[in-house]
Amino acid sequence: MKKEIRLRFAPSPTGKLHIGGVRTFLFNYLYAKHYNGKLFLRIEDTDIERNIKDFYKEIEHLNKLNLKWDNFFEDNTIYTQSKNLKLYQKIALDLIDKGLAYKCFCTKQELEDSRNLQAKNGIKSPKYNEKCRNFSIEDQEKFSKKSSFTIRIKREKNLDIKFFDLNFSEITVNTNDLDDFVIIKENGHPTYNFACVIDDFLMGITHVFRGQEHIANTPKQIIIQKFLKYPEISYCHFSVIVDKYGKKLSKRNKETKQFLSDYLNEGYLPEAIINFLALLGWFPLQKDSEVFVLDELIKAFDGKNISKSPSFFDDTKLLFFNFSHLQKLNDEEYYNYLKTFSKKFSLLNQEDGGKIAKYYKNELQIAKELDQKLEWLEESNPFLPENIQFLKDNFHIAKLIYEYVLEKDAFSYDELINFLSKEKKILKNKNLFFTIRLLITKTTKGPELKFIFFFFSLDKIKKRIINNFRTFKNDH
Ligand code: GLU
Repeated sequence: MKKEIRLRFAPSPTGKLHIGGVRTFLFNYLYAKHYNGKLFLRIEDTDIERNIKDFYKEIEHLNKLNLKWDNFFEDNTIYTQSKNLKLYQKIALDLIDKGLAYKCFCTKQELEDSRNLQAKNGIKSPKYNEKCRNFSIEDQEKFSKKSSFTIRIKREKNLDIKFFDLNFSEITVNTNDLDDFVIIKENGHPTYNFACVIDDFLMGITHVFRGQEHIANTPKQIIIQKFLKYPEISYCHFSVIVDKYGKKLSKRNKETKQFLSDYLNEGYLPEAIINFLALLGWFPLQKDSEVFVLDELIKAFDGKNISKSPSFFDDTKLLFFNFSHLQKLNDEEYYNYLKTFSKKFSLLNQEDGGKIAKYYKNELQIAKELDQKLEWLEESNPFLPENIQFLKDNFHIAKLIYEYVLEKDAFSYDELINFLSKEKKILKNKNLFFTIRLLITKTTKGPELKFIFFFFSLDKIKKRIINNFRTFKNDH
């Protein structure tokens, strides 16, 4: 029987869920689902000083994308590394017993002095000077009693560590380019590399998919894996996400929203976010359309065609995907979407809302655009100076409209236009249409006139024209 494919998404709970992290989650998810495998969630919370309290809320945002991870534990609790602290320590001590790790008693000051010295001598990436590497067991015992210590891996020297990355192909690093890195910190907590390897093993992980910044960690993790006789894992690293200036997307970049919650709260559909992120560093071969639903993504995402070059975070493209996925909503879903995400829309009654939703469906990329487009609904808008001038210039038309409306009990849009153009010989051009529009809405922006007539009741149209004409005449 073929081994089950298992992946994990392993965020550190040190801040809000970054959009880059969500892409990592998605790639893991798509690959796991493509191969009928599992995707587990693991919280890497061993860096106690940096943990934030609300991280679970951030994780809940992932649920809003409707992408479910698999439960590792039967009781559905989330896998957290902090529960394994004792185990990491025990495994580290076992490595010491086997001569594969050692205690390091160097103080922070000593380490810093050594680094500075190396830097002074032109060494670009200073390494640990291995002072404690060859201490005898007795030396170790002696020091242990007095001072605190870290535990370092005792790597084999001059050994090529090779691994095959699904995206970057074969990568080789010689252990002489690494140092005896720390696996247990002074506070007794494991380093990321150490805990990661142990948990990947405990969870039966077969594939590690993560950002390119972790390529440098991989040889270290393989050294630990080999020492612990754990099975090999397949790796796939994907390229960084950059902004329009080509800079890595980071929290310092204020122009681009960074967090999943920001996008969800603003009215980006989960389907659009998923579609957009999936194509951020992956290009499916069938490319006649870029709009994918989740099932199509799962079907296509086989781990090939992941991009090596940086992926450009193009928010106009995200808007395009939002528009495309909004088109797929039925009337009720679209109505509810606007109700949730457009303030002005949420104030409308159901009938008006229904008309507006239908009319604007082909125009909106995102709900908030509607708030600007609905200005024509408000009665209290003042006339803008340029519109005042326009109405002055076309006052004779305005007057004809006013008089017609005053006189008629009922009329339609077509009847009004016919009256003005045929009986009163007014040309059917901007002057005519803008005047009618201004008298009803006081603004030149808005939907087609015909729709305005369809939207408002005749009474309301009459009332608005009469009131607006009178106010204008009195004021100007
Ligand atoms: N906690 C690490 C991070 O958030 C996980 C890296 C990994 O997937 O190994 O970057």
